[in-house]
Amino acid sequence: QPHEPTEDARPTTPVKPMTATEVKVNVSIPEAADRAAATGADGVGLLRMEHMVLSLGKTPEQYIADNGERAYIDELVDDMRTAAEEFYPRPVRIRTLDAPTDEFRQLEGGEDEPHEHNPMLGYRGIRRSLDAPEIFKHELDAFRRIYEMGYDNVELMLPLVNDAEEVIQARELMKRAGIDPSTQEWGIMIETPAAALEIEEIAEAGVDFVSFGTNDLTQYTLAVDRNNEHVADQFDELHPAVLSLIDNTIETCRDLGVKTSICGQAGSKPKMVQFLVEAGISSISANIDAVQDVQHEVKRVEQRLILDSVRSS
Ligand code: PEP
Ligand code: MG
Repeated sequence: QPHEPTEDARPTTPVKPMTATEVKVNVSIPEAADRAAATGADGVGLLRMEHMVLSLGKTPEQYIADNGERAYIDELVDDMRTAAEEFYPRPVRIRTLDAPTDEFRQLEGGEDEPHEHNPMLGYRGIRRSLDAPEIFKHELDAFRRIYEMGYDNVELMLPLVNDAEEVIQARELMKRAGIDPSTQEWGIMIETPAAALEIEEIAEAGVDFVSFGTNDLTQYTLAVDRNNEHVADQFDELHPAVLSLIDNTIETCRDLGVKTSICGQAGSKPKMVQFLVEAGISSISANIDAVQDVQHEVKRVEQRLILDSVRSS
């Protein structure tokens, strides 16, 4: 048996099926990046900056007041670098801050967060970034620095966008921070029905990709609080209304040359994967533990689509 591989020669990464649709992975904390990279995923579909801030134990404002702007940016750079390094040259999508005020309130400095009846409908995501551009700038500075360090695999993603006007304003702030939106890969999340309905205008603002945040998109489309156990059985990411918004967005994006992806929890579910591959999505990002299953499900659906088209021709 001369070809029997030795223990050392065995691949550490599972053999992954070749698929046209990319399968990426969501990374919750940078420390999980090595485990995520070992799945053989085609990149990171979502790395949330608010998790970097939550691990500091202080709100950005408080951290900066105590340690200075430079130290805050250094912390963000360190965390981004961990993921960018593990995955290089595979792309890593980094999302700017999107923590509802009730999450930031638990941190040191959180007493200064505004009190809101509906934090999920409140001061978070891109609307907060545009309202407090001096805080947003640090995230952009950190992103620019990581890129300049040679990690050209990082991509910038903006959360909770409603319309093109916000995207244009954010793009302007990116430019001012030294990021070139015409060469840098960047995009937005589709998390509100408004964003899905405004997709043409948003695409014209120059985004390279959009990513469905189905946790929020479902919550806002169905008016079902994603954290409310009393209506948990109504929270259905496969509701026809949600799927219709996704399908229309994918179709428009395909016509306009914008890549589409998903980074909400639903991307780990076989039924959603089936729907998305049939709809023609460019990439699917799944939880670490679901990556392998999603890879095989994507392969299965792609093969069936090919067979169907051969049979019908
Ligand atoms: C989502 O809304 O689907 C998403 C990925 O963002 P978050 O869960 O951080 O709100
Ligand atoms: Mg979201």
